[in-house]
Amino acid sequence: MSSQTKTDFLQGDLYINGKWVSAPDQSYFESLNPATGELVGICAAASSEQVDEAVTKANEAYSLWKNTPIPERAAYLTKAAQLFERRKEELASIMTKEMGKVLPESLGEVGVVIATAHYMAGEGRRLFGETVPAGFADRNVRMVREPLGVAACITPWNFPVALASYKIFAALITGNTVVWKPASEVALSAKIFVEVLAEAGFPAGVVNLITGSGRTVGQTLAEHSDVKVISFTGSTEVGQKLAEMSSTTLKRISLELGGKNAVIVLKDADLDKAADGIVKSAFTTTGQRCTAASRVIVERSVKERLVQKVEELTKSMKIGNGLEEGKQVGPLVNEDQLHTVEKYVKTAIEEGGKIVTGGQRVKELGGYYYEPTIIENVKPNDTIAQEEIFGPVLAIIEVDSYEEAMEVNNGTIYGLSTSIYTESLHYANRGAKEAVSGLVYINNGTSNAEMGVAFGGMKMSGNGHREVSHHAFDVMTEWKSIYTNY
Ligand code: NAP
Repeated sequence: MSSQTKTDFLQGDLYINGKWVSAPDQSYFESLNPATGELVGICAAASSEQVDEAVTKANEAYSLWKNTPIPERAAYLTKAAQLFERRKEELASIMTKEMGKVLPESLGEVGVVIATAHYMAGEGRRLFGETVPAGFADRNVRMVREPLGVAACITPWNFPVALASYKIFAALITGNTVVWKPASEVALSAKIFVEVLAEAGFPAGVVNLITGSGRTVGQTLAEHSDVKVISFTGSTEVGQKLAEMSSTTLKRISLELGGKNAVIVLKDADLDKAADGIVKSAFTTTGQRCTAASRVIVERSVKERLVQKVEELTKSMKIGNGLEEGKQVGPLVNEDQLHTVEKYVKTAIEEGGKIVTGGQRVKELGGYYYEPTIIENVKPNDTIAQEEIFGPVLAIIEVDSYEEAMEVNNGTIYGLSTSIYTESLHYANRGAKEAVSGLVYINNGTSNAEMGVAFGGMKMSGNGHREVSHHAFDVMTEWKSIYTNY
C-alpha cells in the first residue's frame, strides 16, 4: 500500500436513496488483492444510522415501485443489461482483483448477470395468479402475487455479482425495493454493479447499497423491523443465526448455504469424461464454489485408473494471477481461507489420508495460492469428507457398490449437488431419485446452473427456497386471495 497514491485505488461509498454517500468519520476498510496483496481500494463501513436510513428510504420508495407496472419495471432491467454489457470488462477485472478468480470466469459471471436481467425482465410478464372455480353462484375467486416490501439481500464473495443479480432482480421485478449488503471482500465490485443500476434510472430508494462487516452492518440490516424478506447466500453457520433471528420477527427468509458435493463414479463410467468433470468442478474458482466437488466416491475396481487421470489433469492446471492470460486457478480469497485449507489438509493426513498431488502453499507466487490437492484413502466420516472446506481440496473415497456410494453421498449434513457418472440407465435414474440433493447431474460435474432452472439445496444447504428460475417469485411475493360477489 505504501507506494500507492490515492489515485491508484478506488473508493467504494454507500448508495442510499439515489445518492452516493460516504461513511461517517471517514470509516473505511481496505479491499486487498489476494494475488498480490496490493490495495484495490477502500470501502465505506456504514453506521447503524445509515443502515436504518437505507431501509427507511427503501420503505418510502416501496409504494411507488410496487405500483409501477411490471413492463416498466422490466424496462429498467433491460436497460441495466445493456449497460452491464458496456462495463463488462471493467467489472470483471475488479472482481478478479478483489477475490482472485481468473478473468474468463469473472467475464462469464458478468454474462450471468446480463442473462439474469433479461430473464427476469421477461419472466415478470408471467407473474401469473390463479382463478379458482367459486363454490357459490355470482362470485369469482382469484389469487394474485403481491410483493413483500423491503428486501434485504446479503451475499458472499465467491460470486460477487451473479448471486446478487439472482436476488436483486427477482426482488425488483416483483415490486420489492432492495437494500443490498455484499461481502466486504468484494465491496468495490458491488459498487460498480450499483452504479450500473443507478445509470439505468431506477427511482431513488428502489435500490440501496450498504457495505461493512456482516456481524454489524449485515446483522443490523437483517434485524430491521421494516425489512420484510431476507435473501441470504453464505455459510450455513451465518444462515442458521439469521433463521433464528427471523423466527422471532416472522420475516420471510431464503437461505442458500454450504455444500459437501460429491461426484459418484461407477465402474461402467467413461473415465475420461468423469476425470474432466471432476477437475473442472473441484478446482475452478479455486474450489471456492458452493457447488464445488470436494468428494469423489468411486467404485474400487476403477479407482486407480480414475485417480491417475484426475491427477494428470490437475497437474496440468496453470496457477497464477487471474488477470494473466492462460491461468486456470487463482489464489484463495484471503489469508484466513488459506489457513483453513492448510488446517484441513493437515487433519486429513492425521486421519490417514494420502496426498496424491498438491498439499502445499505455492509460496513463490507471493499471494494466497494453494496447489490443487487430491487426497486418497479418505473414509466417509473423516473430517475432510464431512465438512465444507471451500478450497481446492478433493477427497477420494472408495466404495464397493452403487448402494454404498449413494449412502456415502447422502451421509453428510449437506444436500446441494451430486453428480453421477455411469453409462447405466438403471443407475442414472436411481441416482437421480436417491440423491438427497437439490441439484443432480448425470455425466456432468457438480457445478452448472442454467437460466430458468431452480437452484438451491436440501438439508443444511438451504431452507427449501429456490433461486434463478421463476421459483424465486415464491421468495419475493406472497399470495392474496380475492373474493368478488357480483
Ligand atoms: P459468510 O461468512 O456466511 O458471509 C456471507 C455474507 O453474510 C457476507 O456478506 C457477510 O458479510 C454476511 N454476514 C456475516 N455474518 C453476518 C451476520 N451475523 N448477519 C448478517 N450478515 C452476516 O459466507 P462467505 O464466506 O462470504 O461465503 C462462503 C459460503 O457461502 C460457503 O459456505 C458457500 O458454500 C456459501 N455459498 C452458498 C451458495 C449457494 O447458493 N448455496 C452460493 C455461494 C456461496 P462480511 O463478509 O462482510 O462479513
